[in-house]
Amino acid sequence: MKRVAVIGGGMGGLTAATRLAAKGFHVTLYEANDRLGGKIGEIEQAGARFPLGPTVFTMRDAFEEFFDYVGAAFEDYLTTIPLDPVARYFYPDGTTLDARRDPGAFERELVEKLGEKPGALGDYFDYARAIHETGAPLFLWSDFSTLRAFRKPGSIATALNLNKLDPFRTMHQANDFFFDDERTARLFDRYATYNGSSPYRAPATLNLIAYVENVLGAYHVKGGVLAIVNAIERLAERVGVEIKRGVPVERIVVRNRRVAGVVVNGAFETYDAVVSNADVERTYDELLEGGRRRRRLFTTAPSTSGLLFLWNVERAHDNLAAHNVFFSEDYRLEFRQLGKERRLPDDPTAYVHIPAKMEPETAPAGTENWYVLVNAPASEDPYDAETIDRARSSILARVKANSGIDVADAIVAETTRTPRDLERETGATLGSIYGPSSNGRRASFLRQRNKARGVEGLYFAGGGSHPGGGVPLAALSGKHAADLLFRHNYERFPSL
Ligand SMILES: Cc1cc2nc3c(=O)[nH]c(=O)nc-3n(C[C@H](O)[C@H](O)[C@H](O)COP(=O)(O)OP(=O)(O)OC[C@H]3O[C@@H](n4cnc5c(N)ncnc54)[C@H](O)[C@@H]3O)c2cc1C
Repeated sequence: MKRVAVIGGGMGGLTAATRLAAKGFHVTLYEANDRLGGKIGEIEQAGARFPLGPTVFTMRDAFEEFFDYVGAAFEDYLTTIPLDPVARYFYPDGTTLDARRDPGAFERELVEKLGEKPGALGDYFDYARAIHETGAPLFLWSDFSTLRAFRKPGSIATALNLNKLDPFRTMHQANDFFFDDERTARLFDRYATYNGSSPYRAPATLNLIAYVENVLGAYHVKGGVLAIVNAIERLAERVGVEIKRGVPVERIVVRNRRVAGVVVNGAFETYDAVVSNADVERTYDELLEGGRRRRRLFTTAPSTSGLLFLWNVERAHDNLAAHNVFFSEDYRLEFRQLGKERRLPDDPTAYVHIPAKMEPETAPAGTENWYVLVNAPASEDPYDAETIDRARSSILARVKANSGIDVADAIVAETTRTPRDLERETGATLGSIYGPSSNGRRASFLRQRNKARGVEGLYFAGGGSHPGGGVPLAALSGKHAADLLFRHNYERFPSL
C-alpha cells in the first residue's frame, strides 16, 4: 500500500486525504495546530459562538460529489438552509436592498429601489450563466494541467468558446455595462472580494461567482461552516486516515528529484508521496529541500486579507439579515487604498454576519453575535491599537450612516483579529486569505498546479493552488491533487 503524507488539515488537505484513503492509500495527515480546519474556525465569547473564517456556503455540488466519492450521503452529515435574502445591502444614501433568492423578487427590488431597467438582471444572470457553463468544466472541475483535462467534452467546449468567458473586460466594466445604476454594478462588483481581488482589475470572467451565489444558491450550514470540517473529519477517520494534530511537518525530503518522505519532530518518516495543504510559498521556501530554486515565479500579488471584529451586541435588530453589507461612500477609492497604497481603507465597506439570525441558540436571547469583516491588504503590519480603533470607529460610523443602527454603546465583549493573527494561526503568507489574487487576465494560468513540476511525488491542495481560494474551490483542489496522485501511481499514461 502506497504511503502518503498530507501536510495540513485545512479543506484541501482533508478532502485530499479522505479521497486517497478511500482509494486504499495509507494516509497520514499532519496538522500543526491542535484542531483541524485551518482558516475555518470558531470561538466562543461571552456565551455566544462566532465563526473565524467562512460564513457563506456555495457550490454544494462540489461537496455532494466528495461525499458520494467516499461512499456517504451529504444529507446524512450536514444540514444546509437556503439563504433568503442572500444578503441585505445598505447604501450610503440610505437605500436598503435585499438580494432575494428568487430572481423575480430580486429584480423587483432593483427596479423599485434603484430604478434599474426591467430585464437587466435576467440578462446579467444569462451572461454569468454562460461564463459558468463555459468555464467551470475546465477551470474548476479539471486539474488544468494534463492533456486529459483538455480532452474532456466540457473542456473542448470551453476552448471553442473562450470569448464567452469575457476575459478582456474587468468585472466592473462588465457590470457597469449591464446596469444603469452604479449601486447595482457595485453590488455585483463585490464578488471580486470572494477571492480577494479587485473588481477594477480582475477579469469579468469572475462574474460567474455572482451566478454561483445568486442563482445556484447560497446556504447557511447548520453549525456553521466548521460543521463541514467536523463531518469530513469523521469520514476521514472512517476510511482510515491517520490524523496527527499538533504535529507540524518540518521538511519535505527529496532524493533524486523525488519525494522520499518528511521530517517531523526531528525524525525522518518515509513516504511515497506528499500532498501539501500548507501555503504554497511557504511549502517552497521553508519546507521543500532546495525549494527556493524550484519555486516557480509568483508573479501575482497576494489576495487581500481581512480585519475581523467579533462583537457581542446587547440587543437585537429586526431590520438586519443574517448577511449584511454596508457599502462605503467611494468603492473605487477603497480598492485603490487596498491595492496600490496597500493600506486599510479610510472608509471600508463592512460585511456583518449575524449567525443568531439563522441559529438563535448561538447567542444569548435578545442579543446578537456580530462578525464584522472589512477588507485589508495582506501585510505584516502589526496593526497598533490606534489603527484598529480608527477602523472600528469608521465601521460603526458607516453602519450608523447607512442604516441608522448605532451599536457603539451595545458592544459588551469583543475580539479583533488581524492579518498577522491569520498568518500565525494558519501559515498564510502575510495573512492573505485566498493565496495569489486573481487580479489580471493571466492570474488563473499562474496558479500553482496540483502536481508540482520538477519534484516527483509532490502535490498541492488548498486555496493557494488550482483552482483557487474559498471553501468549495479548496475542496476541488483536494479532488484534483488526489486524482492526479492516484493516476500517477496506477495508470501507465496518467496525463492522457
Ligand atoms: C475571514 C475569512 C472569511 C472567509 N470567508 C469565506 C466564505 O464566506 N466563503 C468561502 O467559501 N470561503 C471563505 N474564506 C476562505 C476559506 O476559508 C479558505 O479559502 C479555505 O478554508 C482554505 O482552505 P485550505 O485548504 O487552503 O487550507 P487552510 O485553511 O489554509 O489550512 C491549511 C492548514 O495547514 C496547516 N499547516 C500549515 N503548515 C503546516 C505544516 N508545516 N505542518 C502541518 N500543518 C501545517 C495549517 O495549520 C492549516 O490548518 C474565508 C477565510 C477567512 C480567513
